Amino acid sequence: MATSSSCVVISDEEQGYDLDLFCIPKHYSSDLERVYIPHGLIQDRTERLAREIMNEMGGHHIVALCVLKGGYKFFADLLDYIKALNRNSDRSIPMTVDFIRLKSYCNDQSTGEIKVIGGDDLSTLTGKNVLIVEDIIDTGKTMKTLLELLKQYNPKMVKVASLLVKRTPRSVGYRPDFVGFEVPDKFVVGYALDYNEYFRDLNHICVISDTGKEKYKA
Ligand code: 5GP
Ligand code: MG
Repeated sequence: MATSSSCVVISDEEQGYDLDLFCIPKHYSSDLERVYIPHGLIQDRTERLAREIMNEMGGHHIVALCVLKGGYKFFADLLDYIKALNRNSDRSIPMTVDFIRLKSYCNDQSTGEIKVIGGDDLSTLTGKNVLIVEDIIDTGKTMKTLLELLKQYNPKMVKVASLLVKRTPRSVGYRPDFVGFEVPDKFVVGYALDYNEYFRDLNHICVISDTGKEKYKA
C-alpha cells in the first residue's frame, strides 16, 4: 500500500507535452515552453490526497490553513474533494478554513525568518488538527520556519499538504506529510503558481519560456 508521503514522481527526463495539445490562454502562447502537469492529472491526484488526509486526520475538527497566494487553487480543489468525502460518508467531521500570507526574510543562507500576514489570530489553532496547504516546497525553509512558529500555539496535530516538492540540492531535507508530485529543479508556473504575479490564470502547470521570463521580469 502506498504511504502518505509517496507521490507521483516526475523524472528529470520528462519532456512534458506540446502546448498545442492542450488549451492555453492566447496571451501566454509564446511565454511557455511545455505543459508539464496537465490540469486533469492535478485533479485526479488531489482527489486521492483528499482521501489520505481524511484517513489520517478525519477523527477531529480540521482547520485547513491556506498559504496564499500560490496555494489557493490546490486549497480550493482539495477542500472540494474532502467535502465530497464528508457528505458521502457515514463518518464526517467539521472543517474550518483560514488564510495566511508569508513574507520570508533570509538573514543568511541557513536562517529563514518569516512574517505571517493576515488570517485569524493563530491562537485559534490551539488544540486543533491543522492542515497547512501549500503550493510548492523548494528549499523547505519557509515551511520549517512556519512549523516552528505554529508549535508555540499548541495545536493537537499539524500536517502539511503540498501539491509539489522540488528535487533540489538546496533542500534542507524537509518533506511534507502529503505530496502531489515531486518535480525536477525547474521553475514552474500555473494553477496559481506565479512568475511575478503572472500565470496564476493558467490551469496547467507549465515550464516558462525565455520569452516569458523576459516579458514578465520584475
Ligand atoms: P522554500 O522556502 O521552500 O524555498 O520556498 C517556497 C516558496 O518559494 C513557495 O511557496 C513558492 O512561493 C516559491 N517557489 C519555489 N519554487 C517555485 C517554482 O518553481 N515556481 C513558483 N511559481 N514558485 C516557487
Ligand atoms: Mg507558496
